[in-house]
Amino acid sequence: MNTTTRYCGQCGKPTEKATHDRCAARAELEPPRYCAQCARRMVVQIVPTGWTARCSEHGLLHSPAVNAP
Ligand SMILES: [Zn+2]
Ligand SMILES: [Zn+2]
Repeated sequence: MNTTTRYCGQCGKPTEKATHDRCAARAELEPPRYCAQCARRMVVQIVPTGWTARCSEHGLLHSPAVNAP
């Protein structure tokens, strides 16, 4: 069992199985919808600093640090 598989946050498919150029471009604009570790659908919320996304298994993710003043 391969425990190092990572999943695309935009389409939920394993990152190794296909190219995700469009997903990468979209990720600049939109928060991820799927957990990178388990591909579960996450609950995404837009917050003033960007976004948060919660996986029921892996907890809360934050958007990368944004232009903090
Ligand atoms: Zn993708
Ligand atoms: Zn997860």
